[in-house]
Amino acid sequence: MKDIIPFLDLKAQYNSIKTEIDEAVKGVLSSSAYVLGPEVTNFEREFAIYQKVKHGVAVNSGTSALHLALLAAGVGPGDEVITVSMTFIATVAAISYTGATPVFVDIVPDTLTMDPSQIEASITPRTKVILPVHLYGQAAEMDPIMEIASRHDLIVIEDAAQAHGAEYKGKRVGGIGHMGAFSFYPGKNLGGYGEGGIVTTNDFEYIRQIRLLRDWGQEKKYHHDILGYNFRMDAMQGAILRVKLRHLEAWTELRRSHAQQYAACFKATGICHAAEISERRHVYHIYSLFHPTRNQLQKALQTENIQTGLHYPIPVHLQRAYDSLGFCKDDLPITERIAKEQLSLPMFAELTNEQITRVAEVVSFWQEKTHVK
Ligand SMILES: *Cc1c(COP(=O)(O)O)cnc(C)c1O
Repeated sequence: MKDIIPFLDLKAQYNSIKTEIDEAVKGVLSSSAYVLGPEVTNFEREFAIYQKVKHGVAVNSGTSALHLALLAAGVGPGDEVITVSMTFIATVAAISYTGATPVFVDIVPDTLTMDPSQIEASITPRTKVILPVHLYGQAAEMDPIMEIASRHDLIVIEDAAQAHGAEYKGKRVGGIGHMGAFSFYPGKNLGGYGEGGIVTTNDFEYIRQIRLLRDWGQEKKYHHDILGYNFRMDAMQGAILRVKLRHLEAWTELRRSHAQQYAACFKATGICHAAEISERRHVYHIYSLFHPTRNQLQKALQTENIQTGLHYPIPVHLQRAYDSLGFCKDDLPITERIAKEQLSLPMFAELTNEQITRVAEVVSFWQEKTHVK
């Protein structure tokens, strides 16, 4: 039996930085400051510098970051938010939590991000926010999105949960729109050892509002100016993320070089795979293939002990939880085709060249076999 090639190997990453992490965790344990505090404040500052944005407010998940960004944008019942269905459900759930209605547009096939040419037809007097997703680590087409938003006086919130360090025309995501939301779920490019998230922005007014919202609406203890939430980041995650942030560029460059190696292997086979668009820095949170016999290809890889993922097999507009929006099959044709054909290959910094070669061999063999007929 061949060795397992995992989809993700968080243990290998921990082992590579164990001394630093254990030290940071011990520091928090003996500090007795367990929620917010200096580790979180320092992390907010350091992460904002990394993303080249002025401010960050750390929260307890990426979902909370999206939720609070929407609330700070003034989104509430009766409002509409334009987003994509080709995403993890959290993007859309955050809109629903505010009482607003999600409005879906399709994606462009080359980047799998929001199709800017479909936005204007979806704008109504109730539209408040445009919420593009930097899917798999590749930036959405921000220039046309920002231009449309400014013409219609709308706020842009970037879902950057999969895109730490990604760039669009030299600008890092999270600081291009009015606000950005990142996740530090363990499997993300920068992940804690628990849940975490952050809202980024260049606008101090949003920061003030989000700081209030994440901590019970209080600036002064027991003085609750607005109805807030318990969405604070814990100090353990802050300390862990500070350590990991120092390694993020190196890990990202490894992901990018793994992606190049995959692409080089697939070039000759004609198999459709993820690619970097000019003027964008892809950070390969997910490395995708697209194949008409995706399910069988996934089984063939499984037989060879190669673990893969699907992101995402059922688009949000066809989920039962969103039946009430009234979407039907074929409403978003590109989204629906990608949901059927997309396959996520193993991708993490510690992946070896030999492992990539083995994955590519199985995929190439499959492509030859299915192409003969
Ligand atoms: C992970 C993710 C989220 C939610 O982040 P959590 O930290 O898990 O709450 C939101 N949007 C996208 C695109 C994601 O991948």
